Amino acid sequence: MKDLLIGTSNPGKLREYEELLAGLPLRLMSLKDVGLDTMEVAEDADTLEANASLKALAYARASRLLTLADDTGLFVDALGGAPGVYPARYGGPGLTMAQRRHRLLGELTGVPDAQRTARFVCVIALGVGDEVTQVRGVCEGRIAPVDDEGGEGFGYDAIFIPQGYTVSWSHVPMAEKNRISHRGQAAQAILPTLRGLVKG
Ligand code: IMP
Repeated sequence: MKDLLIGTSNPGKLREYEELLAGLPLRLMSLKDVGLDTMEVAEDADTLEANASLKALAYARASRLLTLADDTGLFVDALGGAPGVYPARYGGPGLTMAQRRHRLLGELTGVPDAQRTARFVCVIALGVGDEVTQVRGVCEGRIAPVDDEGGEGFGYDAIFIPQGYTVSWSHVPMAEKNRISHRGQAAQAILPTLRGLVKG
C-alpha cells in the first residue's frame, strides 16, 4: 500500500478525504502522523491554484511522500466575490469561524434569498516530488439567512445551502456532501491520476 499525505491540519477536511479516497489502496497520513503538523506554509499567493501548489510541494518535499493539498475559496455574488480566495481570513485576524460566519451574515443583512447566491471552489494539488497536478471542483449554492449552529460540519458549512437543498451543509450527511461538494468534485477529478500512481 502506498502512503498519501493529506496536507491539512483541518480535521473536518481529513475526515472527508478518508471517505472520498476510501476505494483506493492508499494509506492516508495526516501532517501529525509525519511530524509536520507544526510546519507553517505561507498561503500568500492570490489564486487557489498557487496556494494549493505551495502547500502540496512544501509538504511533499518535507515528507518525501505523495502529497495531496487543497485550497478553498468562497465567492458570494452580492459581496462582489468576497470572501474570495482567503475565506479563512475573512473579517480579520483572530476571529473564530463562528465570528467569521456572523460577519458574513451581517454583510448580507436585508439581501433577499434570490440574491444570496454563492459558490465554493476547491483546487486540489497533488505533489509528487517536484511535480504537481491540479484539478478544480465547484459547488453552487446560497448563503443561509441564519447560522445553523446546531449541526455538524466545519468552516462555513453552517451558512451554506447547496443548490437544490433547503438546509445548510451542517445538516447534510458527509457522504452526501462529498457527492456534491467542491472538494468531492475535485477529488473525483484527481482519482484517475491517483489510480495511475498507485498502479505504477
Ligand atoms: P482552506 O484554505 O481550504 O483550508 O479553507 C479556507 C476556509 O474555507 C477555511 O475557513 C475553511 O474552514 C473553509 N472551508 C473549506 N472547505 C469548506 C467546506 O467544505 N465547508 C465549509 N467551509 C469550508
